[in-house]
Amino acid sequence: MKLAKTLYENKTRWALLEGDTACFLIGDPYESIEKSGESAPIAACKLLAPCDASKVVAIGKNYYDHAIEFGEAVPETPTIFIKPNTSIIADGEPVVYPPISKRVDFECEIAFVIKKRASHVKAADAKDYILGYTCLNDVTARDIQKSDAQWARGKGFDTFCPIGPILTDEIDPYAGIRVQTILNGEVKQDGNTKNMMWSIYELVEFITECMTLLPGDVVTTGTPVNVGPMLPGDTVTVRVEGIGDLVNPIVKAE
Ligand code: MG
Repeated sequence: MKLAKTLYENKTRWALLEGDTACFLIGDPYESIEKSGESAPIAACKLLAPCDASKVVAIGKNYYDHAIEFGEAVPETPTIFIKPNTSIIADGEPVVYPPISKRVDFECEIAFVIKKRASHVKAADAKDYILGYTCLNDVTARDIQKSDAQWARGKGFDTFCPIGPILTDEIDPYAGIRVQTILNGEVKQDGNTKNMMWSIYELVEFITECMTLLPGDVVTTGTPVNVGPMLPGDTVTVRVEGIGDLVNPIVKAE
């Protein structure tokens, strides 16, 4: 099943994607997925960020190779942080380079969207709580992240959370999924989920032991090695095998 949140004829609607067609749903896809009978070509729809997030819960250092990239110790438990929902943008929308940063990095990640209220969920049950998987760029002002004890500022600027373009449940998170960043056509990061220290279902258990995840919330699962900088004028692509390409230009603040 592939889902998108679309803007078509000035209306925001969730849709089930069938071939080249967006079949609009009645309401949102969290409780149940029911087609309205209306449809449009996908190409005629603007694809919005495929979530309704009250928060984006992110994992720091979940790939062994990235965890040691900055010469720091490998964590014994996942490091979690929150990106505000005001940082979310869709495929195609610009990432705005903050004037107060001198180093803004890409981080390609596989993310997932929560289907139903999740509290104290065991890893064995986690699959039932995941609506679908998508691409996410955990854009980071690295200089600000390093200067602050907390990561909220370095990770939380407006436009620092591109998500999309679609959701799919047609991938197996344990199969070993390729996750890449391509900057201006050049591959910069080329990782695989088999190198994660904590699996996607284990992360659901770890996070929901602490906080409730709501329908539409986003969890992003960490980035592999070789994070690096972007500049205004660049185009960044996060490509996740089996999902697609999330493409965003970087622009100067006005
Ligand atoms: Mg990250």
